[in-house]
Amino acid sequence: MCLNLQFGNLKLEIYNAFMLGIAAVVSAAAVAAGYESMAPTGQWYGRTFTGLPRGSRQLALTFDDGPNGPHTLRLLEILARHEVHATFFLIGKYVKERPGIACQIAKAGHAIGNHTFSHPLLIFKNEAEIRCEISDCQQALQDAVGEHSNLFRPPFGGRRPAVLRIARELGLEPIMWNVTGHDWNVPSAELIEEKIERQMHGGDVILLHDGWHKHMGADRSQTVIATDRLIARYKAEGREFVTIPQMMIMTAATSLAS
Ligand SMILES: [Zn+2]
Repeated sequence: MCLNLQFGNLKLEIYNAFMLGIAAVVSAAAVAAGYESMAPTGQWYGRTFTGLPRGSRQLALTFDDGPNGPHTLRLLEILARHEVHATFFLIGKYVKERPGIACQIAKAGHAIGNHTFSHPLLIFKNEAEIRCEISDCQQALQDAVGEHSNLFRPPFGGRRPAVLRIARELGLEPIMWNVTGHDWNVPSAELIEEKIERQMHGGDVILLHDGWHKHMGADRSQTVIATDRLIARYKAEGREFVTIPQMMIMTAATSLAS
């Protein structure tokens, strides 16, 4: 009986160890799944565009969360001075508030993409809500600037398969990034430049912000200064700044040639 009891305890310990092991695997998978739903270059939940092959000469500047007066306008002046075109992912409700700024972005020849109507974290939204957020932004862009690109960037980079599927059903191509200036909490221009420099490999899609999803009028002066310096520096090194649609054409050409 004593032997049986010991054997029973051993079985219980093995069972507990086994269950702990399963719990560890499940929680590691949950952490990985959560990470992949936000990781900018992760492809677990479906294909997204994150740039050209490493070592490419081209770079794409992307600006999120506008239009935002007056900083978007300052940024347009800087880009015009350098004769550089960028890509702006606009929030629909701000486009409705400031259609004139959205128009100026388009008139200057920059690419414009959809960044949803109110900038929610889409991984927590149901399919009808996701569809509404994307199509309401599309309508706001259509009303303000007419025909534009077919680009879509999910707020905070948050996505799950349904987000990407719905975007594609609506004719949009999901665009992420592989370099970020971490400028949303308004660090100095020097710090933004440093962070970008550390992540660059060539062929990069660089994430910056000319607006803020929480309200209109956020101070983006440091981003504007950093953009001015980054363009001057990388142009001097022989890099070429292109829009996301231009980058995507290059990707298609490369894959056809190979
Ligand atoms: Zn955003």
